[in-house]
Amino acid sequence: ATPLAIAVSLGRAAKRKILIRDGDVLQQLSSRGRVWFDKTGTLTEGRPRAELVYGATDGLRMAAAIERECCHPIADAILRESDRLDLIPATGVEEVQLGAGGLSGCCQGQRVAVGNESFLRRQGVLLSSEVTEHIERCLQNQTTPVIVAVDGCAVAVLAIADPVKQDAKSTIDRIRRAGWDVGILSGDHCELVDKVSRRVGIDPQNAFGGLSPEDKLKRVTEAGAGPVVMIGDGANDAAALAAADVGIAVRGGAEVSLQAAPVFVASGTLESVADLIDASRRTNHLIR
Ligand code: ADP
Ligand code: MG
Repeated sequence: ATPLAIAVSLGRAAKRKILIRDGDVLQQLSSRGRVWFDKTGTLTEGRPRAELVYGATDGLRMAAAIERECCHPIADAILRESDRLDLIPATGVEEVQLGAGGLSGCCQGQRVAVGNESFLRRQGVLLSSEVTEHIERCLQNQTTPVIVAVDGCAVAVLAIADPVKQDAKSTIDRIRRAGWDVGILSGDHCELVDKVSRRVGIDPQNAFGGLSPEDKLKRVTEAGAGPVVMIGDGANDAAALAAADVGIAVRGGAEVSLQAAPVFVASGTLESVADLIDASRRTNHLIR
């Protein structure tokens, strides 16, 4: 490989705020294989809005007390929404496991859990038919339902709205035209992942929801034809980003640690990824 061609490409990439730590990345991206996108914060804007759609304001305050200890985009949304409320202190907040789908802790002597349906069920929380109805309604409205439970009872539902990035579809079209298979790996609800996949023009068969960080890792290390690229933004993508042939971190969520990935898209602009793939092909032409 001519170092000059690579250097020129790296220089151009840097101007677009793409940091590449390894020249080999260009070689990999000049061929064709599979690209996996994370959803939240990668395909979506990652600055979600939260709305209390069921339950009393106290449910929102409890949720905020717990989420204050967390740095997920959903936590930020809930804190913004509870801005005007007096917050209650919480203690012993823990994310049972990274990417578990929620958090739990203690608030005013009560056990509070905040998260998605499967997280709450695993915590032994009972969901009334009313709560289940609101969960369904959230999904129909293309919002992520977050449930708040106090002492084992679901008391509130928050709808989290996170619009798809404006350049998601055009980026995916370009990557596919360059010969890559494209799919989604997400920890969010399957029904939402399915809707987002259709919106950005990805075959729903290649869009997987409800995944843990280990599930994402497993998909990325599955054998296939050509290199595997993982594009993500969250702590729950870190293992998959490290295991992929090319890990591309985009600025979306709150994860500063991901700047250490082989490729870091500092602008958060998805179109940059398609630019990079096109540039890699041109560089490789020069090398040959
Ligand atoms: P993605 O893989 O799409 O980036 P995450 O794994 O970060 O999604 O989150 C998956 C799901 O887990 C979210 O859609 C949400 O339902 C739930 N979840 C994660 N973190 C939190 C949190 N701090 N509070 C409430 N729910 C959460
Ligand atoms: Mg994410």
